Amino acid sequence: MADLLEDVPLLDHHCHPVVESELDRAAFEVMMSESYLPDAAGPTAFDSPLGLAIQRWCAPLLGLEPHADPDSYLERRAEIGAEEVSRRMLRGAGPSQLLIDSGLTEEGMIGLDAMRERAGRPVREVVRIEQVATEVLDSGVPEAEFADALAAELAGRSRDAVGLKSIVAYRIGLELPADPPAPSEVAAAARSWKAAGQGGRLEDPVLLRFGIEVGTELAAERGFPIQFHTGFGDPDLVLHRSDPSLLAPIVERLRVRGVDVTLLHCWPFLRQAAHLAAMFPNVYMDVGLAIPHMGIGADRVIAEAMEFVPFGKLLYSSDAYALAELHYLGALLFRRSLGRLIDAWIAEGVLTAARAEDLVAAIASRNAERIYPL
Ligand SMILES: [Zn+2]
Repeated sequence: MADLLEDVPLLDHHCHPVVESELDRAAFEVMMSESYLPDAAGPTAFDSPLGLAIQRWCAPLLGLEPHADPDSYLERRAEIGAEEVSRRMLRGAGPSQLLIDSGLTEEGMIGLDAMRERAGRPVREVVRIEQVATEVLDSGVPEAEFADALAAELAGRSRDAVGLKSIVAYRIGLELPADPPAPSEVAAAARSWKAAGQGGRLEDPVLLRFGIEVGTELAAERGFPIQFHTGFGDPDLVLHRSDPSLLAPIVERLRVRGVDVTLLHCWPFLRQAAHLAAMFPNVYMDVGLAIPHMGIGADRVIAEAMEFVPFGKLLYSSDAYALAELHYLGALLFRRSLGRLIDAWIAEGVLTAARAEDLVAAIASRNAERIYPL
């Protein structure tokens, strides 16, 4: 299986574009961390499982020996140029296609067409609900018209998309009421937003819950899954409030509406996510983000998810953001860890090689192909 996994194309159902501005060591190290705070990861971000993985696995893609030191790595990276580095890393990752969250951008970040060229593979878009909601709120639309305006704008922005994403975990956490707010509450909340001078960060529980409701309607109509960020990520989330098990009431409401839910990242709540996926027919999960950041620890991350998740519910994602290296490592480490785990299972007689091959095909792409309107 390790050999099979080396080559099987992976459908990356959640990732972001890369940054192609010239990066000095400080800028590169900031992007190695999920934190936007300076020096969050210690004196050098290379002193981490991710740092070791970049030195070990990415250096050869730049024509260096494995374990090249960080300065030589970055020097060589600059010589080759960010665009060519993107190409090598993205193609090296071996995706079948990329579903890209277009909602988070920063300086030097390339667009979807450029990502398509770098990867040499199809790219599809996933639209962030909260970003569109914030833009509609800030557009000056009268509060009584906000609800209709959001529905129209979200539908328009999602014309070519294949899914929606919610980052409510970053804002107020995942403990949300099952029922959506009444229209009068929504209008009142939109009025308060205006009174507060607009342009702020959307943290109003009524507006956030309403955004998900609008997203649910659209998802039901278009056959979109809704992705929910869960588990670790930026410093602006309170980790225990991003526990996916808190989403159960929303998951049930979406189930009734015929909408699939994909739980992103999930670590350290892999068991909670696997439990939801096992209990609800409309719930899927990935272990993205943790994989590149945990390097050799990816073995345990995947083993923990695989303890209980129904195999038809596990998806692949890199959740790579900004650094092309994260696209490559997300795929490489996922392939290696899953391959080792399944080989151990075969050796123990848990399953046959033929059964294992089918399971790998499902996780690599078939599960995602079933739920996204590709
Ligand atoms: Zn992400």
